[in-house]
Amino acid sequence: MTTENLIGIIVDDDFASKHIPPFPKPSFISFEHPFRIKAILNHLERNNIFSNNRIVKVKPKSITQAIIEVAHSKYHIETIKRISNMGGGLLEEEVFITEDTYALAKKAIGGAIEAMEGVISNKYAQSFALIRPPGHHAFREKASGLCIFNNIANSILYLRKQLNFNQKIAIIDIDDHFGDGLARYFYDDPSVLYFSIHEFDFTEGNLGMMDELGIDDGIGKNINFPVPEGITNEDFYYCLDLLEPILNEFQPILIVVAAGFDMYYADPIGNCSLTSIAYNQFAERILKIAENVCGGKIAFILEGGYHIIGLPYCVEAIIKALLKENYEPPDYEKNLPFLIESKREDIDKIKTYLESVLNPYWDKITP
Ligand SMILES: [Zn+2]
Repeated sequence: MTTENLIGIIVDDDFASKHIPPFPKPSFISFEHPFRIKAILNHLERNNIFSNNRIVKVKPKSITQAIIEVAHSKYHIETIKRISNMGGGLLEEEVFITEDTYALAKKAIGGAIEAMEGVISNKYAQSFALIRPPGHHAFREKASGLCIFNNIANSILYLRKQLNFNQKIAIIDIDDHFGDGLARYFYDDPSVLYFSIHEFDFTEGNLGMMDELGIDDGIGKNINFPVPEGITNEDFYYCLDLLEPILNEFQPILIVVAAGFDMYYADPIGNCSLTSIAYNQFAERILKIAENVCGGKIAFILEGGYHIIGLPYCVEAIIKALLKENYEPPDYEKNLPFLIESKREDIDKIKTYLESVLNPYWDKITP
């Protein structure tokens, strides 16, 4: 077995026990709970994923505060640290801090860095960072929407600034929500493609719209595919028809998936209708593209996904695709009639519009 076939699963027990939301009863912030990671790990253990000889379980890279400073202002970092040292509190309605938050959020960045650095250095063929708190809503200056630090943006800027890795990176954000923080980091950067599929009813501050294409040299490299609530597995797969030629033309050296699973039909926060097989088919398709354009290099970084029973299946569905093994969805997901009410007509209109605005920037996109 050569090392390039290995799949690195980056995790730490602290993600499964620390940074506990202050309100136990269902409310928005209570869903971002250590149980998410605990449930995933239990499920992967039970299904013998960790005994597969292609899977390696790895700890996050240990990082210094200086590494967080490549992506975040000292004020923001010190604020998180200070409130953690005080024992915690609510920073704003959708951001809770506990005594463990600073340390855990720092560890989450280390997890995302290990996932990306491990793949570009051929330590792993692909990787999956099972980290929390999530990151894609966090900005340079502030925490937002359950996110403290922007794990993906921080890792990419670390690769750029500390490792001099300046090659092209494509981010595919499949979280139910628009990754407003993540998009902003690279809005003028032609070397980072940001492609987001998200529920448009849910975007905050009216962001994540179709005509947000990037600015300056980065124009055409920010692609927002807002979808109506209730999209099905087939609808989601169909959206990738827009992405595939763009990835082929962009030719990234690394693909990073902002792997949120809150489009899952039973998710308490998202309103879409995907089942776990959608994530299996997504990973199979992206892997095939990645094998053609970048030697299969993909790093999956956990973002949202809050259904404690469904989330572990979604993660398994992706790992099985990377292993090229058959994925068997759970029985409870079968024969649910509301999962087949396609939104194809609406999606077609959105896709056609996107093709028309993207056409000037991409040879392979025709209106
Ligand atoms: Zn989300």
